[in-house]
Amino acid sequence: MLDFLGNLERTNLCGTLRAADAGKPVVLMGWVNRRRDHGNLIFLDLRDRSGIAQIVLDKELTPDGHLKGEQVRPEYVVAAVGKVRLRAQDAINPKMPTGEIEIEATQLLVLNDTRQAPFSPSEDAIQNEETRLKYRYIDLRRPEMQRNFRLRHDITLAIRESLSEQGFLEIETPILTKSTPEGARDFLVPSRVHPGEFYALPQSPQIFKQILMISGFDRYFQIARCFRDEDLRADRQLEFTQVDLEMSFPRQESVFAVVENFLKAAFAAAGVTLPTPFPKITYDDSMRRFGSDKPDLRLPGLTDVRPAFADAALATLQIDPALPVVAFRIPNVGELSRKEREDNHPMFDTKKGAKFIDDFKRLAKSFPDSAAKVRELTGAAEADFVIVVAGDPAHPVKASDTKFEGRLSEREINVYSAAGNFRTELAKKYADRHKAFHVTEKVVVEAHPHGASDPIDGSTAFHPIWIVDFPMFEYDLPSGKWMPAHHPFTAPHEHDMANLVSDPASVRANCYDLAMNGLELGSGSIRIHRKDIQQQIFASLGISDEEARARFGFFLDALEYGTPPHGGIALGLDRIVMLLAGAPNMREVVAFPKTAKALDLMAEAPTNVSDQQLKELHIRVALKS
Ligand code: ASP
Repeated sequence: MLDFLGNLERTNLCGTLRAADAGKPVVLMGWVNRRRDHGNLIFLDLRDRSGIAQIVLDKELTPDGHLKGEQVRPEYVVAAVGKVRLRAQDAINPKMPTGEIEIEATQLLVLNDTRQAPFSPSEDAIQNEETRLKYRYIDLRRPEMQRNFRLRHDITLAIRESLSEQGFLEIETPILTKSTPEGARDFLVPSRVHPGEFYALPQSPQIFKQILMISGFDRYFQIARCFRDEDLRADRQLEFTQVDLEMSFPRQESVFAVVENFLKAAFAAAGVTLPTPFPKITYDDSMRRFGSDKPDLRLPGLTDVRPAFADAALATLQIDPALPVVAFRIPNVGELSRKEREDNHPMFDTKKGAKFIDDFKRLAKSFPDSAAKVRELTGAAEADFVIVVAGDPAHPVKASDTKFEGRLSEREINVYSAAGNFRTELAKKYADRHKAFHVTEKVVVEAHPHGASDPIDGSTAFHPIWIVDFPMFEYDLPSGKWMPAHHPFTAPHEHDMANLVSDPASVRANCYDLAMNGLELGSGSIRIHRKDIQQQIFASLGISDEEARARFGFFLDALEYGTPPHGGIALGLDRIVMLLAGAPNMREVVAFPKTAKALDLMAEAPTNVSDQQLKELHIRVALKS
């Protein structure tokens, strides 16, 4: 028989009681985490979102409560009425925050029972993630998940407060709208009222936030949901949350300062200090030094080892002398057998016109000086695994040959990124040996959110870095055209504006990315605020006037009505939380995520809909057989 709640009011949260509360009458409510039956005494570990308190049901004190205690099972929902008392010395549990006390119950109400759950929230996450996602409500009861979402709340709140203090207004923009050109596929919503017409879900609030600047709001932000129909990866979801902002009359540095301020606040909310200002690196330098535009600075980068090889050596090794020759080292991997090295080979991207040398013994046999010099230049210790990556003349990559003074060519970028990707993959694989990531894990585990104690120094664990001066265009071989590397509202560098049509490859974009520990946290740009330049950009992208009008006509119109110079950025909130929660993937910090196959296993979405619904929407489904 279940009890009614009646007028009973909860007085405390389980996990907050301490020795100083001894003697207090309390009413606690929650789930039975565990039950231990010692005959005349039954112990219930009662759990709510704050933690666990031990309830004692003494047959003598509460025969009725004891009887109910015999019937309750884990995950029953109960209310315990009683008094806090100190535990006997030998019963103190130093591992529990409430381990010094227990509740001497005078009454137990059983508010609800439960079906046999497929797993217990009192234990660690089960391996089968599909079951976790199907029964997400039970999975979310686990203390680790409760902690992740509390953290997410604290971080979001800190960001909101920081942005508000910095003069930003939170303004909502539509979910049912028109396509935004962020480069992904749109989710479409058919209109019932306008047969055959569709809304698109926003890939970002980009156009609206720019219009808000035209409207004079000066500083806008939104914790915005964005929708992109893309294939899912570990750090992607079909819908995700951005900290999206835009400001009028900014320089790049103004945007950087705003972001650094709110990230500092977000990290502080997680109990970690983040030193500002963040370092800055150009795209070309980032490629040169890390082979990536989202470098992980926790491991050594790439070293130019061209000087270690005489021309004859390069010829014998069949290395392209005109392209970069770089090396990187993964610390402390130790000696690898041939088999172990071969197992790594599929991680090397062979489509970048590059090759690698990972057999140093062999290299040392034919070119002892080169091998020694490479190790010297990279600063490799005995146990470090060193790999040389260089251009492969046998498999040249198809790329534009345009090369500008002081800038990297596409072929060079390809070699660097082959090295950078290999470095990232090997770093993941040998994480337990080089231990460079453990610093971050340790800080996250030791940090105390909610300002409980002093913040932990995050300077060795988190490495934010701004990437600037991206190329404005990328060469698209199939079409032979220079395509925009960013969304088409990104302003070119003022200095490069004159080359827009004549030398697109030389034009740098006035845009920036923020990377941290190998993740792209966000990107933004100073925008085009003049219609003539916006039209030029559309033209250079091969977007005709008609197409531009059809897709962004309203925006082009708006640009003509006194648009201030403006710029902004969007940061992935899910990724920020993921980093600070030390979560292995985004699903751990999204309450109801989708699987890699884009399914919501709990709600069972997507699904078929009724013929009637389709009819109303003027839609007929034609499945490919
Ligand atoms: N809308 C851009 C994005 O979603 C961010 C920005 O440029 O502000 O990546």
